[in-house]
Amino acid sequence: MPRNPVVLPLLLFVVAALSAQPDPRAAMLQGIDARRERYAGIAKQIWAFAEVGYQETKSSALLQQQLRAAGFEVTAGAAGIPTAFVATVGSGKPIVGIVGEFDALPGLSQEAQTAVHHAIEENGAGHGCGHNLLGTGALAAAVAVKEWLASGHSGTLRYYGTPAEEGGSGKVYMVQAGLFKDVDAIVSWHPADRNDASPTSSTANITGKFRFHGVAAHAAAAPERGRSALDGVEAMDNMVNMLREHVPQETRIHYIITRGGAAPNIVPDFAEAYYYARQPNMKILDGVWERIVNAAKGAALGTGTTMELEVTGAVYNVLPNAYLSGVMHANLERVGGFTYTAEELKFAEELRKTLTDPPDVAIGSQEKIQPMRAGAVMSASTDLADVSWNVPTVSVTGATFVPGVPAHSWQATACAGGTIGVKGMMVAAKSMALTTLDLYTEPAHIQKAKAEFDATRGPGFVYKTRLADRKPALDYRK
Ligand SMILES: [Zn+2]
Ligand SMILES: [Zn+2]
Repeated sequence: MPRNPVVLPLLLFVVAALSAQPDPRAAMLQGIDARRERYAGIAKQIWAFAEVGYQETKSSALLQQQLRAAGFEVTAGAAGIPTAFVATVGSGKPIVGIVGEFDALPGLSQEAQTAVHHAIEENGAGHGCGHNLLGTGALAAAVAVKEWLASGHSGTLRYYGTPAEEGGSGKVYMVQAGLFKDVDAIVSWHPADRNDASPTSSTANITGKFRFHGVAAHAAAAPERGRSALDGVEAMDNMVNMLREHVPQETRIHYIITRGGAAPNIVPDFAEAYYYARQPNMKILDGVWERIVNAAKGAALGTGTTMELEVTGAVYNVLPNAYLSGVMHANLERVGGFTYTAEELKFAEELRKTLTDPPDVAIGSQEKIQPMRAGAVMSASTDLADVSWNVPTVSVTGATFVPGVPAHSWQATACAGGTIGVKGMMVAAKSMALTTLDLYTEPAHIQKAKAEFDATRGPGFVYKTRLADRKPALDYRK
């Protein structure tokens, strides 16, 4: 017992003050809820901007402005990419990063929260992957954590503004620039049709444009003097479609013909096919990609054309962190799911009628918190994967889409611009904020996450992007 008569009352005062401190989690959740309408407005603005990869000028500027206003120091033009940025607040260790995306998808323009397929702009872009929500939910989490840091806690928080997730591999260049090298853990989320923190991997993905050059000629008067670049593309596509039968089951190969000539009466002297190839294993994918390139070379030889390849993107498969997923799952349960209003329910039921072969999941089931599954692999890809091989990374999904609605659909754009999207975003934002708080307050979390990260990556692992010899394809959407 202190004998100084001043010390005892002071001590009692301190103890009383500490015990009177509100639970930081409750304060954090209240803070996010209090700003709900603002975040809904920001998400809607980015949804309406609908800017595609590396052209997200307004979306990036809006998020930067919000972060500056909240007290973050923003470095724009990160990694030499005009729309990439890093916003930092706080000081010292640990350093935790929250990742935000904001690019839209070409051709997925769609009116919000209506079950009728109707583009706002014909062939315009739309947020069919919900990245308007992704960037805004990450902002909501980052601002909430910043407020806690500002109340006298040590630690550095970064918001990574990462453009061109959809095929542009924006994060790969940010990794290459060393922007993640001192980070202890990364917290992220993605829109989906479920609230789910299960550790999930993805497919590695290589993307490229195969450009064939031929000789133009009158298609009727002098066909023998022409060499069709479109023949090159079609011969390649035929060969790849046969190759499909002889690759491992989980492989995904898809393409579009982006240029196929100008008029049927002119032998096309230029044609282009845009390919994606995916595989859960990066090494197997390397082999599949080599065979696709060989098909293109063979097609050029056989059609008397020439072929040049531009590899526009390449990402790894996600390295999940089961330990961090457990931390996230506990917070997701604390936050809890949500229910639809009568109006949302009507929209959801109508929207489901527009789906082809919808999975057997009921409305009302996915908005609850999903139990943890082990070892899931989604066949889509993300450039967050490259971050995950460099820093222990955790991601959660929020139920922003009506159950059964797949990403990259007009139905997803309709959800991402409406109230259901905001509800799923709020669940994710809160879960991310609480998880980030845990990483600052409980050092064992980062230690355990790092131990798992080192073990699963393996001692001999060296990160090597397939994009090392090129700069960001800033024009890949042009
Ligand atoms: Zn996507
Ligand atoms: Zn996405």
